Amino acid sequence: MTKRYLFTPGPTPVPPEVLAAVGAPVIHHRSPEFLPVYERVLGRLRDVCRTESDVLLFGSSGTGAFESAVANLVSPGEPHLVVSAGSFGDRWVAMTTQYGADVDVLRYAWGETPDPDDLRARLAEREAKAVWVVHSETSTGVVSDVRALAAAAKEAGALVVVDAVSSLGAVPCETDAWGLDVVVSGSQKALMCPPGLGLAAVSEAALAATGSSPRFYFDWERTRKAQRALDAPVTLPVSLVSGLDVALGLLFEEGIDAAFERHVRLGRAARAGAKALGLELFSPDEDRSAVVTAVRVPDGIDATDVVKGVRDRFGMTLANGQGELKGKIFRLGHIGWFDVFDITTQIAAVELVLAELGADVERGVAVTAALEAFENAPVA
Ligand SMILES: *Cc1c(COP(=O)(O)O)cnc(C)c1O
Repeated sequence: MTKRYLFTPGPTPVPPEVLAAVGAPVIHHRSPEFLPVYERVLGRLRDVCRTESDVLLFGSSGTGAFESAVANLVSPGEPHLVVSAGSFGDRWVAMTTQYGADVDVLRYAWGETPDPDDLRARLAEREAKAVWVVHSETSTGVVSDVRALAAAAKEAGALVVVDAVSSLGAVPCETDAWGLDVVVSGSQKALMCPPGLGLAAVSEAALAATGSSPRFYFDWERTRKAQRALDAPVTLPVSLVSGLDVALGLLFEEGIDAAFERHVRLGRAARAGAKALGLELFSPDEDRSAVVTAVRVPDGIDATDVVKGVRDRFGMTLANGQGELKGKIFRLGHIGWFDVFDITTQIAAVELVLAELGADVERGVAVTAALEAFENAPVA
């Protein structure tokens, strides 16, 4: 028997209280038992998104909720600007293009951090109906300064759409205060639930700017009208909604600011552990990078062998690099239901496997470095 550990930046481990709620007998989505749960979840989602606007809930993955933004906001031929510095940015370039938008791409090498001044300059050259940005680019570990990017977009009069799939609940995302028109996320990352729910916080300005692309299931107005009457437009995944209710309750019990601080400390621990092994970080060595830590493998080692090694030997699932980074980096996840021992467990396993693969890693110091980094220095 092998114990299984899930250490990927999505899906993420789910607390037992949440699993118990998900496993409870199925109730009807229009029953008196479900309506209070539905209402509470919609309110808690507004709280976690820090918005007064409606947060629309879909039975879908994060990509589905993102497609709702594209289907509602993009009309063929319209100018849009997508900021891409990794795999998910590229996905939104492909999706907006597929819907016929005239897409301008502010493109960075994978691993770079988007610069608000670049965005400002690009928007001065060519206007855009909406600017599409990724908050936490999970493929690289970069968390962008969405607040500054949004300010640059607003100056140019563009709507701002944010992919917060891996960031919501892990790092601050102030929908209303930062003027974010659309914030998209999913249940299976920092929100500590199984995959299957997508959400989109949608401002009045975004609702007023919907376009002509065909849509039905993902139509915002239809969904909003039904949600406001607590009458789901389709059969919601009630079990997941019940789980999300419990998960958001846990998040608010900890305190959202305390959760952000925990994520900062987890990021510090992961970076300190990787560096103590003698490895080079791929993601930035900064507190904002609190979602996933991307680490380069030593020369002559393939990250695919590291990921396979920790899985086969210890039952742990770590993330490989995606796309062009496959084999070059591995990623230590730390969003959602993680504590420092989830970091030291990953670090210890990586240390053993790297040593077996013949890498020149320093033995026996990384776990201590990670524990110390977690404890030391208060978070500003
Ligand atoms: C996971 C993720 C997605 C995709 O979400 P799915 O639920 O897999 O569709 C999109 N963007 C980012 C930044 C992610 O981390």
